[in-house]
Amino acid sequence: MSSIMTKKITCPKCGAESEIKVFKTVNAATDPIYREQLLNGELLKYTCDQCGSPAQLRYPLLYNDMKNNFMVYFIPEIDRDKLTDEALEKQFGELEGITRRLVGSYNELKEKIHIFEANLDDRVIEVVKAALKDVVEKRTGEEVTGGYFSKYSVDEDRIGFTFFVGDEGEQFVQTTRLEIYEKSAAVAAAGEDDPTDRSFKIVDRNWARNVLYKYKKNKENRAGSTAQ
Ligand SMILES: [Zn+2]
Repeated sequence: MSSIMTKKITCPKCGAESEIKVFKTVNAATDPIYREQLLNGELLKYTCDQCGSPAQLRYPLLYNDMKNNFMVYFIPEIDRDKLTDEALEKQFGELEGITRRLVGSYNELKEKIHIFEANLDDRVIEVVKAALKDVVEKRTGEEVTGGYFSKYSVDEDRIGFTFFVGDEGEQFVQTTRLEIYEKSAAVAAAGEDDPTDRSFKIVDRNWARNVLYKYKKNKENRAGSTAQ
């Protein structure tokens, strides 16, 4: 079951108070409707009863999908120091074989859900994304500021990402063959999780950068020792 509270909030525009639903946890297996509303943005949207002005809600929320064996803890960047919720972590702490992730933005939360629902490994996805980011920067001559997993098709043999390019954050879709995903698994393995560690891990672009560095280093060491 999802865990929901009601909370009073003050409209930033007109100052009127309204009651809103605040989700402490969203359980995708028992409440697929909330999964749907989270992904389409409905769940974290609120409209003032008085003046009708809309606002986006951002608060810590634990998303769990026991059917697909993953949990994503969404803690908005600004709240990062006040948390995490230890009671909540303990409640889910004992479960085995569950992938646990921590994200700081709503877009990352959605991305993780899409990745795990497609039965893909988000560590490998981050490695592929890092490689394709370089490709996009070469092709456009501009800096990539972010990017999200946006395509996966076995029939078309494509995996792809939507990148945000340049100052305007223009969208640029870059896809590649699934073979690249399979090959990247060896790189991602350099950042293998400790299976006894039950904490919520951040797997993002910095994670991928570190892993790529480690992988290259290991490879150099191996090459060095054979040469001697
Ligand atoms: Zn209002």
